[in-house]
Amino acid sequence: MEQRRSKQLFDRAQQLIPGGVNSPVRAFRAVGRQPFFVERAQGPWLFDADGNRYLDYVCSWGPGILGHAHPRVVEAVQRACGGGLSFGAPTAGEVELAERISACVPDVEMVRLVSSGTEAVMSAVRVARGFTGREKIIKFSGNYHGHSDGLLVKAGSGLMTQSVPDSAGVPAGYAACTLTAVYNDTESVRRLMEENAGQVAAVVVEPVAANMGVVPPKPGFLAFLRQITRQTGALLIFDEVITGFRLALGGASEYTGVHADLYTFGKIVGGGMPLAAYGGRRDVMACVAPLGAVYQAGTLSGNPVAVTAGIETLKTLMEDTGIYERIDRRAGRLAEAFRRRGLTVNRAGSLLSAFFTPGWGEQEGSVTNYEEACQCDREAFSAYFNRMLERGIYVAPSQFEAMFVSDAHEDELIERTCEAIGESVL
Ligand SMILES: *Cc1c(COP(=O)(O)O)cnc(C)c1O
Repeated sequence: MEQRRSKQLFDRAQQLIPGGVNSPVRAFRAVGRQPFFVERAQGPWLFDADGNRYLDYVCSWGPGILGHAHPRVVEAVQRACGGGLSFGAPTAGEVELAERISACVPDVEMVRLVSSGTEAVMSAVRVARGFTGREKIIKFSGNYHGHSDGLLVKAGSGLMTQSVPDSAGVPAGYAACTLTAVYNDTESVRRLMEENAGQVAAVVVEPVAANMGVVPPKPGFLAFLRQITRQTGALLIFDEVITGFRLALGGASEYTGVHADLYTFGKIVGGGMPLAAYGGRRDVMACVAPLGAVYQAGTLSGNPVAVTAGIETLKTLMEDTGIYERIDRRAGRLAEAFRRRGLTVNRAGSLLSAFFTPGWGEQEGSVTNYEEACQCDREAFSAYFNRMLERGIYVAPSQFEAMFVSDAHEDELIERTCEAIGESVL
């Protein structure tokens, strides 16, 4: 595969941009090769600077549920651009997007628009602290909530009660307010709640984890979080930056039947533009300035072009009720193909991950939390990734990311992918 132009661009990029990329996973370090540079995308396809075409299962890490450059979304965005790119003043579009989010997720009684998932979760946590008057939060190892200081925290090795920064530059004091529990382990949450009685503002969770590979909640896990937060006066925050409008139109609360106090959205809600949102209970959201005392603002918040992309994407999802059934069925076909090759597959709707668990190919494995995800064979994954790419199929360049199926991945392309899986998992 010719990648000369991409190589040249990567050389230039590395002169000025740390690692040559604007977000670390794009550098392809986990799969031992250089990234390709994208020139354009259409439907399920990415085209790189050397004219290669890839069937794309990354979908911009989640937003692309309709496929790339959906004509309806692009046309609306083009129209919006002609009317001005940013006003810093209220628009009708913001009201419509808020109404659509609330129509899809009825628990969202009030909502604020921001510009990234990071900002949405950071703000929701601040609101939870403002509402409860408490400082600590509980998160889960292997869940990702963006790169704000207080959320870049992992569990100390073995010692679940001792949190340490996951990044240089994060003050230990911030990390101390973030307690880390084990996903799918109710006892780890109960213990932290007891040891920090009356101090926990919120439990923040990916209702279906998708940033350590896909790890669905065990039956009863989310219901337990709902119950213990209610009992202890903490809020439950569902970080639905990936799962929102993905698992179902109503996201995780529709998909699992468990309801949170606050929700964060990103990715799909912006239809490929920089837009995210947080919202939930009216009494909690009433804490946000200028109604209440929790400050949160943004020059580009509710940007009219981004809002237009969000509206048009949600409209399409709301009108085309067959889409969730289609992408679920197609992801199911891919899951079968991986299982036939002896991999461990976790799937929730159109989100899936195939794990190279220890002894894969011979014995069945399971991945229910971060520690188990970390035991997977990264070299085998890297070899599989490279074989898929040579066949023109682009899956996320890391074992710990989800595979995203979009409505543009038509059945015939799915079958072609299943064949490639058969040839690439060796
Ligand atoms: C992507 C992601 C974020 C961060 O969103 P950005 O737009 O990248 O800042 C937060 N939470 C979850 C669950 C995500 O997947």
